[in-house]
Amino acid sequence: MTRITIAKGDGIGPEIMEATLEILMAAGAQIEIDEVEIGEKVYLSGNTSGIAAEAWDVIRRNKIFLKAPITTPQGGGYKSLNVTTRKFLGLYANVRPCMSMHPFVSTKHPIMDLVIVRENEEDLYAGIEHQQTNEVVQCIKIISRPGCEKIVRYAFEYAKQQNRKKVTCFTKDNIMKQTDGLFHEVFNEIAKEYPEIENEHWIVDIGAAKVADTPEVFDVIVMANLYGDIISDIAAQIAGSVGLAGSSNIGEECAMFEAIHGTAPDIGGKNIANPSGLLQGAVMMLNHIGQIAVAEKIQNAWLKTIEDGTHTVDIFKEGISKQKVGTKDFANAVIANLGQIPTVLKPVNYANSAALHLPKYKRKTPLVKALVGVDIFVHWDSLDPNELASKIQKIATNDIKLSMITNRGIKVWPEGFKETFCTDHWRCRFKPVDEHKMKPIDIIKLLQNALNENIETIKTENLYNFDGKAGFSLGQGQ
Ligand code: NAD
Repeated sequence: MTRITIAKGDGIGPEIMEATLEILMAAGAQIEIDEVEIGEKVYLSGNTSGIAAEAWDVIRRNKIFLKAPITTPQGGGYKSLNVTTRKFLGLYANVRPCMSMHPFVSTKHPIMDLVIVRENEEDLYAGIEHQQTNEVVQCIKIISRPGCEKIVRYAFEYAKQQNRKKVTCFTKDNIMKQTDGLFHEVFNEIAKEYPEIENEHWIVDIGAAKVADTPEVFDVIVMANLYGDIISDIAAQIAGSVGLAGSSNIGEECAMFEAIHGTAPDIGGKNIANPSGLLQGAVMMLNHIGQIAVAEKIQNAWLKTIEDGTHTVDIFKEGISKQKVGTKDFANAVIANLGQIPTVLKPVNYANSAALHLPKYKRKTPLVKALVGVDIFVHWDSLDPNELASKIQKIATNDIKLSMITNRGIKVWPEGFKETFCTDHWRCRFKPVDEHKMKPIDIIKLLQNALNENIETIKTENLYNFDGKAGFSLGQGQ
């Protein structure tokens, strides 16, 4: 018997959770259930996190969480509970299988069967955002080596366990050489440890286009958080419907399982929602907790129900479907099919689907880190870079000189183009003269000089070399 936590969420959440639990119980799942309240009601009661402290206690104690979708109220500074849960509980891997069920669910891609493994904790979802000038806001993209290693290793281990043949990596490292560059570098390193699995890399834009056009060429695809969020919705939708896909969020200790769709407020409370997405999440949960026979029994009954043409309104199509049913009747149809297997669709065999236990991340020997410059960002309202250059050169010292100014990353001094559009947000790069070994005090002196010159500095970024290799990018056009 495994004790799990559930949350019924908002919109269609309660009805699809009820349907899912009925199927689980009828199939003989050995689970005991604690329910917690999360979502809209909790937010609107004045709790901006959408969850009470006692609910966290239950979730952390049980470690396994089956969650229906929730509504994050717009505006009012409410933080997304989904993102918070993934990060608080260290659920680094988001696994989203997207398989078409041709000819029973309408799709342009009859032989699609891919799994997206999305990094779940970092990237632009770190949520570190600031307004810095009148015209410019920023969002910091954090990519860590442990984050990359954990997710890439998870993708390869998953492929190995599931007998999948290829792992593809999507990045945009032609542009983001440091962040996406690290993800790609780690992918190449870890791929070497799995010579039996084919590996490849695509730039994310053409990769996404290929997913939409020829998804059958992909098997497992691993990517950073934002790309994974977007592309997994595309993949689920072209497989048939976002309403059919579930996902798991896996951490070293805890795991959360859910549908990938939202609360569908337009159809909430009408008993017409498709419970399949949450049911797919629940099947992944049963595999994770080792109740493999029950997971198989449910999945085969579900496939049989889809194959029978017993469809909810979102996938119902004249000529393909046989019977249009509501949420409850769909669940009853799956229950009636327990013990049966599909005849056209491939029955599942989950013999190798238990939770993966990956080795803990091991810290590497630190690299030799040397301070070699500083980027000082300033708010400057005049739009003439040469004017800024002559002003800011005054803050230089005997040891540290201005080497470049960029605006939105493009070099505007020295030798900028008058055609380049500028905002009020400028990066001024300072580097030491040849023989000077730069120290943190040099930065303080520059900032003090800027203060004396009435220049508004908004932030600094230190420039480091690691083992002699630049840990920062050049200005565009430099
Ligand atoms: P949505 O997925 O809720 O709905 C998109 C469309 O798909 C709607 O027309 C809806 O009726 C339909 N649909 C979705 N699930 C369905 C199902 N199971 N059966 C039948 N039809 C279904 O996306 P949205 O409209 O962008 O978001 C609505 C709300 O859900 C928002 O408040 C959003 O914040 C929230 N949301 C929550 C989660 C989550 O909790 N994991 C994820 C995404 C969105």
